Amino acid sequence: MLGETDMSSEVFRQEVRAFLEENCAQSMRNRSFHWEDAHEVYNTDDARQWLDAMAAKGWTAPSWPSEYGGGGLDREEHQVLAEELARIKAVAPLTGMGLAMIGPTLLEFGTEDQKQRHIPKIVSGEVSWCQGYSEPGAGSDLASLQTRAVLEGDHFVINGQKIWTSGAQYADWMFALVRTNPDVPKHEGISFVLLDMHQEGITIKPIQLISGSSPFCETFFDDAIALREDLVGELNKGWTVGKRLLQFERSGVGPVSSSGGEKKKEQPRNELAELAKHYLGESDNRISDHAAREKVIRHTMDQKAFTLTAERVIQENLSGKTPGAATSIFKLVGSNLMQESNELKSTLRGVQGAGWEGNDFTESELEATRSWLTTRAVTIYGGTNEVQMNIISKRVLGLPD
Ligand SMILES: Cc1cc2nc3c(=O)[nH]c(=O)nc-3n(C[C@H](O)[C@H](O)[C@H](O)COP(=O)(O)OP(=O)(O)OC[C@H]3O[C@@H](n4cnc5c(N)ncnc54)[C@H](O)[C@@H]3O)c2cc1C
Repeated sequence: MLGETDMSSEVFRQEVRAFLEENCAQSMRNRSFHWEDAHEVYNTDDARQWLDAMAAKGWTAPSWPSEYGGGGLDREEHQVLAEELARIKAVAPLTGMGLAMIGPTLLEFGTEDQKQRHIPKIVSGEVSWCQGYSEPGAGSDLASLQTRAVLEGDHFVINGQKIWTSGAQYADWMFALVRTNPDVPKHEGISFVLLDMHQEGITIKPIQLISGSSPFCETFFDDAIALREDLVGELNKGWTVGKRLLQFERSGVGPVSSSGGEKKKEQPRNELAELAKHYLGESDNRISDHAAREKVIRHTMDQKAFTLTAERVIQENLSGKTPGAATSIFKLVGSNLMQESNELKSTLRGVQGAGWEGNDFTESELEATRSWLTTRAVTIYGGTNEVQMNIISKRVLGLPD
């Protein structure tokens, strides 16, 4: 017999199922793509209709408070929604830095006015965001950033340059770390501001990536403006806010997403094993090549252990806990596994795994080459492997500086 909680959860599941059936077009199911291509994938009528329907319910940000447009779902409801989305293999209706990074940061550090002005537009996907952190002279050593912001009455005047700004060419707003006091130790003179990208003082130049696409840019500020009311946290205390945002970013690179566990459900089949059998042959339903078999088994076991650990942490996040310094472990292990998997997929294909163009290669072979090259970046963005190891040493293991 079903208890009261099970009953209401079952009623909610039926409601979700009917809603998804009606609103998630077939083209938004069973589809995989690279983050670099996200802008194209989401630029279709089906994608917009799917987004609008989900956003109207607040289900693009299921656990965010409903007063800011979020779903306001409790832990069980969020879990049910995640399961139902996974069941039909739905493409996430909305992705991006609004949802994954600045949204949760504003919920934690923003003023009531900032939450009211920015969060609903993040939930609806109306406004897209980019991240102005890295500079030509400040990557791993981010606190050395030099982009200068001077407070003049009700606004900051900003001059300087950011680099590797993902999606700047499409973004409406940027969250940025800027130097507001150059005369104090470097971590103590940084502020966290939000600024409108559609203004004269901003110039954007796309940079081409090794995989052929241009997902990121150089961003130049010449007397650009950020309003005083868009300062997040206190003046010169932006480092704390900026570090917290990085934890949200890293939790999205590994699978410890605080916005739901739907996208990381395990694949029912072992794609690597199938590839190996296809390209290297099989006997008795096993990969013929001994060395390849070992590599596939080792990777599959590591991936399985990682997925199980991640699922446990996702459960903890669904129950309201937010990720801390330990997210660096997931960023480190998750991005290494992602690279290893893509490298294996190319290696198992042999010569067919190194094609760039031409009729000698199938579409999936060409895609594999691009995937392999794309994943070179995952151990760099959001903080390199070495930076993650430094954080784990100091903040998780408590080793001395
Ligand atoms: C695809 C992609 C998208 C990105 N998107 C954005 C974005 O949207 N916004 C943004 O602001 N930035 C973005 N970045 C930039 C990214 O955050 C930086 O590339 C990263 O922080 C590394 O900085 P860097 O490139 O200056 O390398 P560096 O800091 O110069 O590092 C060079 C090498 O030295 C090592 N190293 C540096 N310091 C140490 C240390 N203390 N101990 C041990 N080793 C060290 C690093 O691990 C690395 O191997 C993106 C990067 C990529 C690749």
